[in-house]
Amino acid sequence: MDFSISDDDRLLQQSVKDFVENEANAVWRDIEETNELPDSLVEGVKELGLLSMSIPEEYGGLGFPMVKKALVHEMLGRGPWGLGTFVSVHTGIGCAGLVKFASDEQKKKYLPKMAAGEWIGSFALTEPDAGSDAGALSTTAKLKGDEWILNGTKTFITNAPKAHHFMVFAKTEQGITAFLVDHDAPGLRIGQVFQTIGHRGSRPAEVVMEDCRIPKDAIIGEEGRGFDYAKACLAEGRTGLASRCVGTAQKAMELALEYGADRKTFGKPLTEHQALAFRFAQMSARTEAARLCVYRSAWLLDQGEQAIRESSTAKLTAEWSWQTVDECMQIFGGNGYISGEYMIERLWRDLRVARVYDGSSEVQQMVISHQLRKGNVQPGW
Ligand SMILES: Cc1cc2nc3c(=O)[nH]c(=O)nc-3n(C[C@H](O)[C@H](O)[C@H](O)COP(=O)(O)OP(=O)(O)OC[C@H]3O[C@@H](n4cnc5c(N)ncnc54)[C@H](O)[C@@H]3O)c2cc1C
Repeated sequence: MDFSISDDDRLLQQSVKDFVENEANAVWRDIEETNELPDSLVEGVKELGLLSMSIPEEYGGLGFPMVKKALVHEMLGRGPWGLGTFVSVHTGIGCAGLVKFASDEQKKKYLPKMAAGEWIGSFALTEPDAGSDAGALSTTAKLKGDEWILNGTKTFITNAPKAHHFMVFAKTEQGITAFLVDHDAPGLRIGQVFQTIGHRGSRPAEVVMEDCRIPKDAIIGEEGRGFDYAKACLAEGRTGLASRCVGTAQKAMELALEYGADRKTFGKPLTEHQALAFRFAQMSARTEAARLCVYRSAWLLDQGEQAIRESSTAKLTAEWSWQTVDECMQIFGGNGYISGEYMIERLWRDLRVARVYDGSSEVQQMVISHQLRKGNVQPGW
């Protein structure tokens, strides 16, 4: 078993970390206030090549394996989640479906522009009445002549206001089917743009389709296979998201250690009170364990495995990361609760959503226990 990280990958991680700490964390209060990502940050992630990391080299991307992407997501997790989620939706669920299931023509048209960051991708599965139970979606697509006609509303769609196109899931005669829908397709509009308590600058929104017309060849893969494709995208997305949570937990611990070494109560620094010292040890152990779950899921995906149980397990560790961030917040006492003062409050608000989106923690437990009942109970070694 080899746990080493290559020199190249360390260099990559360091450059992402430097960018996140020096550029993104430097402006976190502005992002909170304006709910916008500064152009300089979007340009910065483009320059680092991060928007192309999922796209194969033949289409102008970096073609990173999942383990390498997990290393990047972990560093993004140290920064504002509006930025992390912008990158991860574009390169994860917004991209995986195209790379895995699109036709050669679709790949040639979309992937080079996505790699250059000129076209931003988005993933539109959730509906107002179909979130955890995504299979109950009601958006329809009907073939009429040379066009599909789509009707329905998707909600909470990350990147929607910035997106060039959406991977949309809709019901056809054969079942749930995936489509590639451009933002300027006739009949498509962005509806409500939501204000979120964390994750600022990402501005999830509704995508409304009213007799939205797209070409017949805008279907992705085979008709009726859309839900399988969605699950494949989510396995990758969940692993990347879990990695971001690990980065956030790690950053929270570092902030709390620094604060706790400085702040004295009862004659000594907080970190020297045994109750808190033990708490740090527990947080460190949880973060290490979560990181290993993430790396293993990423590694399995790189071996071509579906990693259903493992990616859900990795995603479920968002609960541990949440516990860590919440306990770090506690170490800041009253100061932690003051808005805009210490970064810990932003990490707390940012990470909270990871227990809900990309399949909530309850949904991950459903997936894992379903796999266990099917006999998938042991690591595959
Ligand atoms: C900021 C943000 C960004 C998002 N980005 C995207 C995106 O880009 N694309 C996209 O398609 N979607 C996106 N989503 C949607 C997200 O994936 C859904 O919110 C999530 O899947 C939960 O669905 P829901 O909100 O409808 O909650 P519900 O399904 O109504 O669930 C409510 C609660 O009940 C629990 N629950 C539901 N059923 C059960 C059960 N059987 N047993 C136990 N507990 C249960 C859930 O876990 C949850 O805690 C985003 C959401 C947010 C908040």
